[in-house]
Amino acid sequence: MEANNIRTMKTIIPTTCTRDCPSTCGLLATVENGRLVRLSGNPEHPLTRGAACGKKALYVRRVYSLERVTAPMIRRGGRWEIVTWDAALDLVAERIKTLIAESGPEAILYYQGYGERTALKLLNRYFFSLLGGVTTLRGSLCGGTGQAAQNLSVGDRVSHDPLDHANSRSMILWGRNPVSTNAGLVPIIRDLRRRGGPVLLVDPARTRSAALADHHIAVRPGRDVFLALAAAKLILAAGAEDKPFLERHAEGVRDFLNLAERFSLDQLCNRAGVCEDQAQLIADTLITAKPTSILLGWGLHRHALAHQSIQAIDALGALSGNLGIPGGGVSQGFEEYGPYDQRFWGDELHPPRRTLLMPRIGEEILNATNPKIRMIFVTAANPVCMAPNTDKVSRAFRQTEFVVYSGHFLDDTADHAHVFLPATTFLEEQDVMASYGHNYVGAVNKVIEPVGECRSEFWMFQELARRFPFASEYRRGLEEWLEAVCAPLREQGRDQGGDLQALRSRPFRVNAPMVPYADRRFPTPSGKFRFLERLDEAEPSPETPEFPYTLLTVAPHDAICSERTLADHEPLPAVVLSARQAAGLGLEQGRLVKVFSPHGAVKARLSVDLELREDILVAERGGWVKGEHGLNRLTRDMASRVGDGCPYYETRVAVAAWPAEDVQDVPILVIEHSPQAPGGNFVKAILRRGARVTTLRPSDGDVLSNWPEGPEDFAGLVVLGGPQHAFDDASSPHFPRLMDLMRAFDAAHRPVAGICLGAQLLARAHGGTTYTLSGLEFGFVQHHPTPAAGDDPVIGAALPLPPLMEFHEDSFTLPPGATLLVQGEACPNQCFRVGRASYGFQFHLEADSRILADWLTLFRQGAIPVYRVYQDQFPDAYYTDLARRLPLLLADATAFCDKAALAWLRLCGEGAEAWGKDREDGSRPVEA
Ligand code: SF4
Repeated sequence: MEANNIRTMKTIIPTTCTRDCPSTCGLLATVENGRLVRLSGNPEHPLTRGAACGKKALYVRRVYSLERVTAPMIRRGGRWEIVTWDAALDLVAERIKTLIAESGPEAILYYQGYGERTALKLLNRYFFSLLGGVTTLRGSLCGGTGQAAQNLSVGDRVSHDPLDHANSRSMILWGRNPVSTNAGLVPIIRDLRRRGGPVLLVDPARTRSAALADHHIAVRPGRDVFLALAAAKLILAAGAEDKPFLERHAEGVRDFLNLAERFSLDQLCNRAGVCEDQAQLIADTLITAKPTSILLGWGLHRHALAHQSIQAIDALGALSGNLGIPGGGVSQGFEEYGPYDQRFWGDELHPPRRTLLMPRIGEEILNATNPKIRMIFVTAANPVCMAPNTDKVSRAFRQTEFVVYSGHFLDDTADHAHVFLPATTFLEEQDVMASYGHNYVGAVNKVIEPVGECRSEFWMFQELARRFPFASEYRRGLEEWLEAVCAPLREQGRDQGGDLQALRSRPFRVNAPMVPYADRRFPTPSGKFRFLERLDEAEPSPETPEFPYTLLTVAPHDAICSERTLADHEPLPAVVLSARQAAGLGLEQGRLVKVFSPHGAVKARLSVDLELREDILVAERGGWVKGEHGLNRLTRDMASRVGDGCPYYETRVAVAAWPAEDVQDVPILVIEHSPQAPGGNFVKAILRRGARVTTLRPSDGDVLSNWPEGPEDFAGLVVLGGPQHAFDDASSPHFPRLMDLMRAFDAAHRPVAGICLGAQLLARAHGGTTYTLSGLEFGFVQHHPTPAAGDDPVIGAALPLPPLMEFHEDSFTLPPGATLLVQGEACPNQCFRVGRASYGFQFHLEADSRILADWLTLFRQGAIPVYRVYQDQFPDAYYTDLARRLPLLLADATAFCDKAALAWLRLCGEGAEAWGKDREDGSRPVEA
């Protein structure tokens, strides 16, 4: 389906979402004049039928984010340098050859993540196989345990097609949160409820999917096995077990019944942390509302003994007669790489090579010997952030001689890399995508040309291969490779009257049963379903008074894993604790807290929940360590007993108030003059350090209703920029009152920070004059610190000075007694200190990628009338060059802003009295 509108140059292209999400939604991409403007659900997708989550809107922003690295880079002397693709790939090829010659292929670790699991991704590993095989990964950070556990029950895990849920009369979402992580399932669940079918949610935390359910059962984390046994016991007590199935199609039944008999109902419910009514609810649902579809979620896997819970739930499905019938089943996932020709992993091309355990990747790299890991090549992953025990993973990457990173952003893993290869997103690629949440395979159609110099991994490895003797074997055209890798699919497509070409416009269903095990035959050695026979009761993470809470790092609602930009990060992660526990610790809502485990500590904002279990602490995972969201600093690096999965939820933590000796709870007043000029990195930095911010927006009328009489309620004042002229009181009648306030803060020994317009107003407030320059200062400019800067507590703490963003046509004369701290060439007065601790920053140290994106777009489109006269001075080539350099410029500017903002906040936190006394004594300002 492709609709062209000639006048608007609008095209709508169907494609498939490739993100790490089971929905694998069909999408429609709207492209106007070559630019992606919208993604929406494709109503013609046979399964997802127009459903898609809100994250798709973020992808549009993400593709064009100014933080996105769009040119290859090599790190030299500790700093990134933009280079050509040939230079980057030559270096990578040369290092691969040298390392193999010196230490053998196992000195190279290929870390292939889950960020994208398309057909052509098989060829990444094929490249390394042609090299002779390198060290690769085993185990999983995701669903490995679930698959391995279900294989114990049924021999080979096969799930019910989601379309089969239309035959269900009830559903149990066991640890699954479709509202946030499986949007395609939501309409199916709503339909079931419309038909009167009860839906139960079993999850320690009350997720957003509770709104889809009739009942929420908050089971104790990792103790689902006991809840399943309790429900089984009640089904047996009612005589409602599927006797024919147990007699003819199952093994291990007696042992399972013994298990259920070994405990009283009370004991089982106690261990599961639920009441008997809740176990009864599950049993009644399975007895009276059959067929019941039981859907397992991924949180269920995140325990060392997760296999027991999963096997017990499988057993519950079997016991209640829900296996092998339409609308029933215990469904966990699908094989996303299953439909392709597996030979193209290339594992047969070389002798067996070393594998490292993914859930313990830091430890495994550090301990690898003979040979040690000398090079890591990472694709589609951000392991420094996403793997458990961040500090150890970070250490392992730091000690590795050479790290190559194919990615999109300067994230935590990129910070450890020596070569950055800028990858395309799925919106810039041609490929094929199967799903781990359903049976449909869809085309990934190229929607836009690659941004900047980004290239697909397919292209990268093709080009790398050109530098090796196996080039003729590896180098083929994309369509030719797709035909080869997807050969099994092609055959299936033909059966359905289609082929790969037809797939480009319409997904098709792979050959898989709608209802697995309908013949009651299971691919186990005996051909029978295997019941859980024994329990391993050794407690992998015993409760201790020292670390009383299980940390649940749940999937975020608005992002996939670590796929976000720095600007997307909230100042600090939110952690949710039960109201009772919070009260017991003397912690209230919004409090800055320290969360700590035996492995590390993070700072967070506390959120208090009246309904949450008392033994858990809940936070959304995926934020970057450098964005101060590194929750994996806390997590434990171990492997699950079955399946080599990653039991993140074996992490036990404690919570305490953030130490009083640090800056915290400092009340700061922020004046925001324009929605296009928010506080950005400056306000984010002070919020992270403990500021409590009150924002007034004069344009919203705050000047009349909420204007403070004086500085009594605040420790500092921030005045932000805006398009207004600082000398134009007629257009901005609040300026005189604002300047009074700035003087009053200074008189009361409370620091002030004015940015751009705020700096001009500060200068005016203290006797300087503001005026219009002869031209616009726009873009990143390298200024110079004055001799006084080094001793200044704010600028001195933030040096060296990187290029910083300018966007102004007004300036000011220095007020009497002011100290110039940063000097520019086109506009000399760039940063000054005046009075006791008032700072004016002409440059926009606060500008983050979102603010900049707004400004560049508005300026380029001529949407700011007064600046239209300057547009011609900035041709397209200027923006192209700026876009290549922006990720690096933003990274340096952000680091500078963080340091300056923290130093300024420390002045606020140290208290007005100390500051004023020092100044009155004639001594230098308080040390930051
Ligand atoms: S992230 Fe998941 S739910 Fe959202 S659009 Fe992609 S596949 Fe669909």
